[in-house]
This record gives sequence, C-alpha cells and structure tokens, in this order.
Amino acid sequence: MSLTVSYCTDGLADLVAGAGGVYGRQRTARFFFDAEPQELRWVVRATDESVEVTIYEFADVAVSPDLPDSDGTVVWRSVHPRPVFAHAVLDAAQHVLAEHGEAGYRAKWMLHPFPIGLVQDLRRLHLRDDACALPHDLSCP
Ligand SMILES: [Zn+2]
Repeated sequence: MSLTVSYCTDGLADLVAGAGGVYGRQRTARFFFDAEPQELRWVVRATDESVEVTIYEFADVAVSPDLPDSDGTVVWRSVHPRPVFAHAVLDAAQHVLAEHGEAGYRAKWMLHPFPIGLVQDLRRLHLRDDACALPHDLSCP
C-alpha cells in the first residue's frame, strides 16, 4: 500500500486495530482519518481468504461521519490475501517504531502513544493464523 495519510487522528492505531479486527468475528472495520477539511474513511472488509481495503473521500469531515459509504468518492480500493495485508500493516507499524521509537512517536504525534499493544496483538494473530514465510523480526533494517 502506498497511500500517504496524515496521522492527525490516531490513524496508525486505527489501522493496526482494523487489521487485527479481521481475525475476529467482526469482519468489517471502519475508521477515518481526518484530512481537514476532508474525511478519508477506511473500510476494511474480510472474507475467509482476502481483505478488501476501500478508502472513501468525503468533502467535509464536519458532516460526513453521518453519511453512508456510498456518498463518498472511492479513492483507493485493493484486495489482498489476508496474510499479505496483515504483514504489510505490521511491517509498516514496526518501521514507524524502529524509525521514531515510542518516545519519538509520541513527540511527533503529540496526543497518541505508539499502539504497541495493538501491534503485539496483530503480530500474535498473524503468526498464529497465517502461514507467512516472511521474516517478523522486530528490529527492522
Ligand atoms: Zn508475516
């Protein structure tokens, strides 16, 4: 995935939680990034084999949280096998952590601590349920 998003809201935590959510009974996770004045709404939908990620853009975040997905403009849609999706999210989170550290992350994004618990949960679910042959070393190059 190569979509740049602003972390004005707790985007990383939401993304990691959304990825973890697809392992549970809740098969759809929705969260939004506040990209003032727009809203970017992420909808993560899981089936047994794959995860579909759709990002909708809404013109005005002040009113859009009440609007249905269909009122937004699709700016991104992709389907990934679940292991690939989970691995990519995990990898991105670990790179953020490796680059900034927990203290650096909090300093950069002010309000939000690095979601270490969510990352550990996702890592555990991914390693338990996905046959992923890629490395999962926490220390990234
Ligand atoms: Zn993996």
